Amino acid sequence: MVLIIGTGVAGLSAALSLKEKGYSVKIVTKKITGGSTYIAKGGAAASLSDDDSPSLHAQDTIKVGDGMCDLRAVDYVTSEAPAAIRKLEQWGFQFDPDLRLEGGHSRRRVAHKTDETGREFYNFLFKKVIESGISVKETRVTSLIVKDHEVKGVLTENGEIDDNKVVLASGGYAYLYKFSSTQSTNVGDGMGIAFKAGAILGDMEFVQFHPTVTSLDGEVFLLTETLRGEGAILINDKGERFAFDYDKRGELAPRDVLSRAIYDQYKQGRKVFMDLKEINNLESKFPVLMKFLSRHGKSVKELIPIFPAAHFVDGGVRVNIRGETNVKGLYAIGEVSDSGLHGANRLASNSLIEGLVFGINLYRYIDSWEGMYPDDGIMIGVSTWKGRSVSLNEIREVNWNNMGIVRNAERLQKSLEFYKGVDTSSNSEESYASLISYLTSLAALKRDESRGNHFREDFPSKKKEWEGKRIYFKVHE
Ligand code: FAD
Repeated sequence: MVLIIGTGVAGLSAALSLKEKGYSVKIVTKKITGGSTYIAKGGAAASLSDDDSPSLHAQDTIKVGDGMCDLRAVDYVTSEAPAAIRKLEQWGFQFDPDLRLEGGHSRRRVAHKTDETGREFYNFLFKKVIESGISVKETRVTSLIVKDHEVKGVLTENGEIDDNKVVLASGGYAYLYKFSSTQSTNVGDGMGIAFKAGAILGDMEFVQFHPTVTSLDGEVFLLTETLRGEGAILINDKGERFAFDYDKRGELAPRDVLSRAIYDQYKQGRKVFMDLKEINNLESKFPVLMKFLSRHGKSVKELIPIFPAAHFVDGGVRVNIRGETNVKGLYAIGEVSDSGLHGANRLASNSLIEGLVFGINLYRYIDSWEGMYPDDGIMIGVSTWKGRSVSLNEIREVNWNNMGIVRNAERLQKSLEFYKGVDTSSNSEESYASLISYLTSLAALKRDESRGNHFREDFPSKKKEWEGKRIYFKVHE
């Protein structure tokens, strides 16, 4: 049997595909409707039009990845992406007919359904999983059972499950920031669990912040990039259109540049809004946004308050293109993994497709083990430690203030000192969250340069010696 952890796009597509190939599959998940897939918006990137190709998709991915992409992963995902989209269609999923253009893409290649593609994927895949008779149990995995570097099963809050093939598809840790676009299930415990079982974590310093997230009556909602492409503008509470003060591309500047600009406005005491008035046919192009606004009694003529928020993590459990980790029998796919596809920054809509490609193709590799041991970086050994307990809210506040959009050595040291005093040794969410936050701070401190979405105000430029060099962590044995 293959045990899959998580009901996002990666876990669900792996389960369906394995089942189709005759494998017996079981899914456990912290929350059936948890994860980022359930709330994801734009779509999935694949070279599907006549004027496009996997190599053009690869070039765009590498450019945004800023010298840190693993070219094997880029080649694999961009080559396999069209087939993954076709596989979904073969299963019965219907995409909208047009392909969308998003920031950083040189071609129209974002396959989508409405303006809420992630939710559409989830609804479709979850229904099919249930129809296929795959068991889905809601429980939190708290640790992995490993003997002689081989996985033997998992411990959950409801007991032990024995299995020597475990697929971690538990998503990222963007919720570990006070301002986040994702759901509260995504606190990095999957990565912590793998780390304590001996798996290697990499690229932890690369956290992507999205510039335009809103919260109305406590409901967090991502205002997709496409809105700015279609004419939405950003203004502050003095009525100033400030984006051009930071970058000549104004509202169309990349995510990291705009996130820092908005962060800076708030630091100056300003409030920031999105103005949607200039967008034509807003109702038909963005029906989900329209429903969100009307749910909260807002009209499109009103200004929408916005803030930048942690959105996606590039790093995680280091894997090869087969999804294999360095612990025999343990696979990691989707956002929990670090395949190297995204490098230092993720190209828009490259994450849902990564989950689909690794999920759908996993059956090819599940019966033959090669394993992954990276040789493209430095390895740091870390042990866990006992200390006082903290709440997730405290962790989120510390991370936002000290390892957020704009970093420096002083604040990162502050964060490290904080985590040295708190517990990282137990199997609670808070303990794993503290461990993951510690590792992120340490990697961000070590990388004394700015690259991709990692910005150090004390080292604002790139350094040649860091190009292509990853920072890895492994537990001290
Ligand atoms: P997730 O979808 O995050 O699922 C993780 C699963 O693991 C959940 O089911 C959770 O319950 C479970 N889990 C977690 N911990 C445990 C545990 N300890 N035990 C058991 N189960 C556990 N990407 C794109 O490519 N295109 C987009 O348009 C896009 N829009 C986005 C919009 C938003 C608002 C957000 C937040 C992200 C967006 N992304 C987008 C990113 C993308 O959605 C995610 O990277 C992707 O969905 C991750 O899928 P996943 O299957 O790896 O994990």
